[in-house]
Amino acid sequence: MTVLVLGGTAEARELAVLLRDGGVDFVSSLAGRVARPRLPVGAVRIGGFGGVPGLRSYLGEARISAVVDATHPFATGMSANALAACSAGSVPLLRLERPGWSGAPDAERWHWVDDHDEAAALTAELGRRPFLTVGRQSLDRFAGPLAGVAALVRVVDAPDIEVPRAWTVLRSRGPYPLDAERALMAEVDVLVTKDSGGSYTWSKMRVAGERGIPVVIVRRAAAPPALEVVHDSAAAAAWVAARPPR
Ligand code: NAP
Repeated sequence: MTVLVLGGTAEARELAVLLRDGGVDFVSSLAGRVARPRLPVGAVRIGGFGGVPGLRSYLGEARISAVVDATHPFATGMSANALAACSAGSVPLLRLERPGWSGAPDAERWHWVDDHDEAAALTAELGRRPFLTVGRQSLDRFAGPLAGVAALVRVVDAPDIEVPRAWTVLRSRGPYPLDAERALMAEVDVLVTKDSGGSYTWSKMRVAGERGIPVVIVRRAAAPPALEVVHDSAAAAAWVAARPPR
């Protein structure tokens, strides 16, 4: 059997190691969005499938017997496509999604919003030196409301929009050590983030708590109720190991 791991996350890379160690035949898939991606161990394919029809064809051609959707919690387009293609092709699908931050001790004090537009409007009210950590692809939603605001913006790859002149763009990739976050956030007066969850980017949340500055956080979309979900790579590897041979 060949397992398709939809990746682009640390959890997907961890799962690749576990599958390799377990002698499972698998291929990891990356979108190809990041210029220099961290590659998982084992076979990798890169690039979109071409929507649901493209993914359905791929599942058949590559003789995929199960899919683990380990994409980022905010990669909702890929997750929807995986659900549609796997349902149509009767291919078992597991969602591997790291826990969110809603259970954190400070979470009740954060400003939870449903989308980036709401986050941008609220941020414009709350701060004069916001720290935007929402990802390159969402920056266009902030550029209007925060055009004249001295935002500090952290991205992995350079933004593909015209960035307002008042913004400072910092290109860097996590994980981010606590002391470095403390230094970086010394002048920041509001933190803007998605509920990405996990420990990899948690230190900025901790620093915001230490400094008592507001946090604007975009909520995750709820997973479809019928979908089987696990929260760590070990549980996903166990699910794969328990699949009957096809
Ligand atoms: P998205 O909006 O959900 O997906 C848009 C399209 O990109 C999909 O329809 C698919 O194209 C392609 N795609 C996405 N993930 C893919 C994968 N693993 N393998 C092959 N094609 C993929 O996704 P996104 O938010 O742009 O995220 C892209 C990738 O970056 C994902 O792998 C995700 O895990 C990773 N990532 C995302 C975030 C985030 O905040 N969104 C953060 C960290 C990492 P087709 O329709 O042509 O198949």
